[in-house]
Amino acid sequence: MSTTTTTAHDTATAITSLLRDHGQSDYIGERISQLAHSLQCAHLASTHTSDPDTILAGLLHDIGQFLPEAQVQQLAGEVQHLRSSDNETGSVGRVGHEDIGALYLNSLGFSAKVCALVAAHVPAKRYLCAVEPAYHDTLSEASKTSLRLQGGPMSEAEVKQWKSGQWSEEMCRLRKWDDEAKVVDLKVPGVEAYDGLIEEHLEAVGKGQR
Ligand code: FE
Repeated sequence: MSTTTTTAHDTATAITSLLRDHGQSDYIGERISQLAHSLQCAHLASTHTSDPDTILAGLLHDIGQFLPEAQVQQLAGEVQHLRSSDNETGSVGRVGHEDIGALYLNSLGFSAKVCALVAAHVPAKRYLCAVEPAYHDTLSEASKTSLRLQGGPMSEAEVKQWKSGQWSEEMCRLRKWDDEAKVVDLKVPGVEAYDGLIEEHLEAVGKGQR
């Protein structure tokens, strides 16, 4: 009987294929593709930080939008299940592409930091809208529309909780790169530039080094 082991290399190849094959649709309401947006976000991250987790979160923050519908439904069910067993009221709230993406990356062996940054890219927008009045004006029309569906700016209590959380600074920086990464026809490195980084990251997590 043979056993199949998924290596870091296999997972990195699967992720880059997913980005290439499912990234051609428009980035919601914007004039660039999902893939171009993700690559611009990763490139912005790599020019401002050398932290591989933050760069990978830039590349993969919207991975929940690249997954096939059946997988999205399955992961959404898992998020709901985790939340309802986590809180007494049984209320699960909205499950967005950020939650689905984070759970997916967690299942593939990405670090807690990558998953947390991915999960936070929508709440970070809600946080920034609450604490930086000028930030809201910098958002595109599509992003202003989605903000309303995502719960609007954070309340005072939510802001307080957010600020005390781990990696909140990186989460805000990632959010701003996400907002900027919408330049039509901008030339940036392609998916292949991140293949090795994904593989090294997964290997390091697998060895307990992250
Ligand atoms: Fe995005």
